Amino acid sequence: MPDPHNPYDHGPDFHPAGPPDEHELLERALRELLIEKGVVAPDAIRRSLDLRDHFTPEPGARLVARMWTDPTFKALALRDARAAAKQLDVTVGLFDLNILENTPQRHHVVVCTLCSCFHSVVLGNAPAWYKSVEYRSRVAVEPRKVLAEFGTVIPAETEIRVVDSTAEIRFMVMPERPAGTEGLREEELVPLITQESMIGVTRLGPPR
Ligand code: FE
Repeated sequence: MPDPHNPYDHGPDFHPAGPPDEHELLERALRELLIEKGVVAPDAIRRSLDLRDHFTPEPGARLVARMWTDPTFKALALRDARAAAKQLDVTVGLFDLNILENTPQRHHVVVCTLCSCFHSVVLGNAPAWYKSVEYRSRVAVEPRKVLAEFGTVIPAETEIRVVDSTAEIRFMVMPERPAGTEGLREEELVPLITQESMIGVTRLGPPR
């Protein structure tokens, strides 16, 4: 399902070769009008598209690695993610970011039940399954079962909280630091932290 907040995301069923549908015609009309009125420059649209192509989960992973290794930074990031991100030269962008800590007591998992809101600037572009009707409709209802399908078995004593990202507020998860990483430095931790773990559908295992 295309993200309605992102006019350039046409979803997985978009076939550029076919005749334009209603949404494409609307997008084209709006884009041409904005350019004609001088609201945006064609260059700005191109740059924005290029930027989107280069989103990766690395900024999120850098945040998590610093949070694992610096308790003061972690406290700040949980309270004010934007301020924490700024310390790492990570730009959060337009949407607010909330970071939620996963612990043995509480496991968070992120969804957008309405559409596909996702903090792409920090987490990379949303995976296809995140946008699927199946994930969006099921994870809030039967999170344990959906997580198990990702291979993530959450113990019965661990509470699961499903958090709903919206157009205004978007979430990412600080996964638990895996065993076996005690001796690793911050920059060695970054590549271990996956996009899925920051959505909360997987837990991180010991490094290989
Ligand atoms: Fe959404």
